[in-house]
Amino acid sequence: MLVCPKCGFRFSKSYARITACRGCTLSVSSCSSIKCPRCDHEFPLR
Ligand SMILES: [Zn+2]
Repeated sequence: MLVCPKCGFRFSKSYARITACRGCTLSVSSCSSIKCPRCDHEFPLR
């Protein structure tokens, strides 16, 4: 599980990939960032 540093929303990586990252071609391969499904804040994956 991931926690958004901006809004504190908890979500799984796969959930973000199919929601916030939907339509982004980078997300299916080797994107090093993740986007919060709630506030759209993008931050690097650890
Ligand atoms: Zn957020």
